[in-house]
Amino acid sequence: MKYKPVKDRCCQNKECRDHRKFGEGNIIRHSMYKTRQGRRRRYLCKTCKKTFCSTKGTPYYRLHKSCSDFDEVVQMTVERVGISSISRIKCFSWNTIASWQNLACQVAGEFNDQNLKAPELIELQADEICTFAWTKKKPVWIFVAIEVWSRMWISKVVGSRNYRNIKTLLNQVIDSCRIVNPFIFTTDGFEPYSWAAKNLLGSICSYAQVIKKRRKNRVINVERRLIIGPSQRWDNFCLNQKIPPQSTPHS
Ligand SMILES: [Zn+2]
Repeated sequence: MKYKPVKDRCCQNKECRDHRKFGEGNIIRHSMYKTRQGRRRRYLCKTCKKTFCSTKGTPYYRLHKSCSDFDEVVQMTVERVGISSISRIKCFSWNTIASWQNLACQVAGEFNDQNLKAPELIELQADEICTFAWTKKKPVWIFVAIEVWSRMWISKVVGSRNYRNIKTLLNQVIDSCRIVNPFIFTTDGFEPYSWAAKNLLGSICSYAQVIKKRRKNRVINVERRLIIGPSQRWDNFCLNQKIPPQSTPHS
């Protein structure tokens, strides 16, 4: 019996020349098999003659639980439900939830790497937050950079608050974005940003610092300082954004 090729599957064998290529006509249905979650299909690659199950190459592979359980855990994670809470709600162990979250992160990262196209850099914002893992004696800093117009988180670095990590962050931005015209780059007043903007980005950006003064957890003043680049470009940007180019006292 001749089987029709399956279009929405691709070969999962890394050594096959049709590995992860869709629509080559090399995948056909092979057989069905039973799992605790129900019957699943096995496919055959005609190029390398290897078979693989329907969940191979997905986060559901060898999960020992249903796909919908995994989806629910990921959904709750996105909604900021903690691991312990998810563990109690789903009656799964804490370690299972933690490993599923790691798996989901890994798969989401791979998806981004394969499918996201480099955005054009128009306005870049970089910031860092301090967090604690296990002990308050060793704070961990998370540096992030977002391209404001596309809302894409371009790069992230985890580590100490130092020059090297800022440099890594900006190098990731340069590698993953298209720079067509000079862009606007804003950060807080952390000095290494200024150094990195000058040495790594130079004339391709207008760099400004936005420094917020707080009193009793409320922002009382926002100061904007242009550090690098022509003031005309910065003034135009502020005009378009309807923000004052210098400083704004908040009542
Ligand atoms: Zn193959």
